[in-house]
Formats: sequence, C-alpha cells, structure tokens
Amino acid sequence: MPANASTPAASAVDYYQRLGVTPFINAAGTYTILSASTMPDEVQAAVALAAKRPVHLLELHQAAGEYLAKRLRCEGALVTSGAAAAIKLATAACITRGNKSAVINIPTEMQGLKNEVIVQKAHRYDYDHAIRDCGARLIDVETLDEYERAFSERTVMTQFFNAAEGGRISREDWVRVAHKHGIPCFNDAAADVPPISNLWNYTEMGFDLVAFSGGKGLRGPQCTGLLLGKKDLIDAAQLNNSPNSNTIGRGMKVGKEEIIGLVAAVDWFLEQDDARMEAEYRKRAALIAERVKSVPSVEARVFIPPVANHVPHLLITYDMNRIKVSAIEVMQRMREGTPRIELNPSTGGGPASMGLAGGSNVIVVGVWMLQPSEDEIVARRLQEVLRSAMKS
Ligand SMILES: *Cc1c(COP(=O)(O)O)cnc(C)c1O
Repeated sequence: MPANASTPAASAVDYYQRLGVTPFINAAGTYTILSASTMPDEVQAAVALAAKRPVHLLELHQAAGEYLAKRLRCEGALVTSGAAAAIKLATAACITRGNKSAVINIPTEMQGLKNEVIVQKAHRYDYDHAIRDCGARLIDVETLDEYERAFSERTVMTQFFNAAEGGRISREDWVRVAHKHGIPCFNDAAADVPPISNLWNYTEMGFDLVAFSGGKGLRGPQCTGLLLGKKDLIDAAQLNNSPNSNTIGRGMKVGKEEIIGLVAAVDWFLEQDDARMEAEYRKRAALIAERVKSVPSVEARVFIPPVANHVPHLLITYDMNRIKVSAIEVMQRMREGTPRIELNPSTGGGPASMGLAGGSNVIVVGVWMLQPSEDEIVARRLQEVLRSAMKS
C-alpha cells in the first residue's frame, strides 16, 4: 500500500509551541502583520486533501480561474500570492498586454513600453511599490480636470484605492474618463468584503481589474489574493505570474494548497449571509460592552467602518481621571496577559486606516475574527485591566 493512500492523518505537532511563538486571541481584525484571518474548517480540510496530490500547476490555475470567474460574475480570475501581488500583476498585465518580450523585459528594459499609471494623490499608499516594481511611474492628480489632462500616449492604467478616505474623483467618474481614453482601470479593494456582493460590485461598475486579499475577510490562506476582471487582461496577468519563469511574478508563487484554499474559501464565503454575520458580530460586541460598562466611567458603542473592514467594531471610551491608564497601555497589558489578546491597532489613536476617531482613551475591539467563547475572555480581561487601573 502506498504510504500516502489511506494512512490516517498524522497527529499534528504544535510547532508554535516548539518554536516558542505564542498565539493570541484576535480581537484586532484581519491585519496582515497579525497573520490576518484563520481558515474555516472546510477550507483547511480542502487544503489538506489537495496537499497530498500532485497536479499540473498551470492546469490548476486555469481551472480555478474559470471556476472563480463564474462564481464571481466576471470574465476572468487569477489566484495570486496576495492582494499586493494582484496589484503588481495588474500593472504588469497593462504594461505587457500579452507581449512576451515585454514580460521578460520589465522593469528595467522599458524601451518602447508605455509605463504611466494615473492615481489620485489621496490614493497614494503603502502599496505603491507593487506598481513601481513593474517599471511604472505614478502620475498624481487631484481634480477631475487634472485627471482628464493626465492621459498621454504613455498611459497604461489608472489606479483606484477603494477604501481611500480622501480623493475628489468618484469611482464612476474614474472609470468613465479612463474608458473614454481607452485605458484600463484598476481598483484595489483588498480589505473590502463583507458585504459579499463587493466581490462583483466593482467589476460590474466597470473596473477592468479588481484586487482582493484572500487572507482577510475571505478567510482563505493568508498568502493568497484574487485578481478579477476582463478576460484579456487576466490572461495577460497570468503570463506574468508564477509558475512562468523569467517573469515579474515568478517570485510570487502560489502553490496548489493556496489555489485550492482560496477556491474553497470563496465557496465558503458565498454561503455566508451578510445580515447573519453582522448580527453575530453585534452579539459579540454587545456582550463585551455590557461587561466593560460595569467599570465606572466606561462607555461603549458599536462602529462600522465605511468601506474596508465594514463590520461592527466595539469602541470603548473612559474617563482617564478615574481609570488611570492610556488605551495604548491597555493594549500592551492585554498583549502581555494570559491568554495573549491583540486589540485593534487603531486603539489609542494608532494607525487607523478605517475612519475611526482615535484618542488616547479609545479602545477598539475587532470582534469578527474571534473564535467561539473568546468574546467572554476578551470581556473578562478588559474588565480586569480597566478595574486594576482604578486603584493605581
Ligand atoms: C491588505 C491590503 C493589501 C495587501 O494585501 P495582501 O493580501 O496582504 O497582499 C493591499 N491593499 C490594501 C488596501 C490592503 O488593505
């Protein structure tokens, strides 16, 4: 009998323990540096099964792309090694458009290649490098008039940051003007599910390419992303992607485990229900709110960020004259406690990126990634930390 045919699953070694890395309760959300989300059981099982059987990677990419495109109501889809990789492949697709020597030549041999990407100044962000990696130059605009005038014979793509807090040009105008000039429009919606329908809202709005992170709200493998859009551009992106060698994407490999994991995660996600998810998150927030409000001066309310991380978060505030600890310090004590708990990084006015009003007495609890009964633990620990600061 071949060893891999029907042997029972090996009992897993806890390598976090062996390595001395302590996992935490995720009361933050889907932040990449905090390892984002965890995969639902169905997704983990699909990955484990796929991991045991070899396949042709290009065949798998092709089949997964067709399946995802059908399920997500777009012409084409590509599994990437993350949303950042999807941004890079979108840019490479628009520069190379199926030209095989261009695929090899970018980003250093740009003779004869167009390379300008137009972006709103307020949409410049920490992922610009993914665009510049392809040899592209970013052209900033602020007004609609500037946008109109920014198109040149070197323009290859326009870029939109879906969850940007600033920017004067709407999605509709952004797409309309780009198409008037015959230029493809890309939208980075990495962290922008739920709602589930966002998986097709932006392609249906006319964006030619749209990126999502696979490891955030979709709860696929952390190192996956989705590039969705027009078939010819998705095909052009694929030519730049691993496993094709001598491409910009060769170092952004997705393996069979990631491809299957993301497909299974999309299936899982499409079976969820926005209203039911929101009700569950509100229930967790209410439980924590009720417990912490037993501490004098503490107030709590639910806040839903407008675009990215669009799920109920709990905002806790308190009187620092009575509870003598800053929110940052509370976050630190939660992190150092047992069990370890990680609060939302916008706590205490940290880097918010979600329209949250920060402040030194504002604690933000992201409840959507909590596992069953962890809301109870977070509530108890917060209560302990806040209460103990009253005595000091
Ligand atoms: C998280 C994020 C990314 C990167 O996603 P990865 O899947 O980690 O590569 C890109 N853009 C935005 C707006 C994001 O929030």
